[in-house]
Amino acid sequence: MGDLTPTQASPGLHISKPSPDAPATGSAVCHCGASASATGDAQVQGLVQGWEANHGAAHRGGK
Ligand SMILES: [Zn+2]
Repeated sequence: MGDLTPTQASPGLHISKPSPDAPATGSAVCHCGASASATGDAQVQGLVQGWEANHGAAHRGGK
């Protein structure tokens, strides 16, 4: 599983939910230098929303 964790050399967003009863975990590294991680379904959902709004594909808008 460690191979899927994003790094500065391989930026991206990775979400993991090992089982329905376990809290989701997420980590993200952007090519712009930002990084973030979250644990818990609500926290991970917020991480993804913030990421999509400000990083990842959002950078293609010229930001
Ligand atoms: Zn970024």
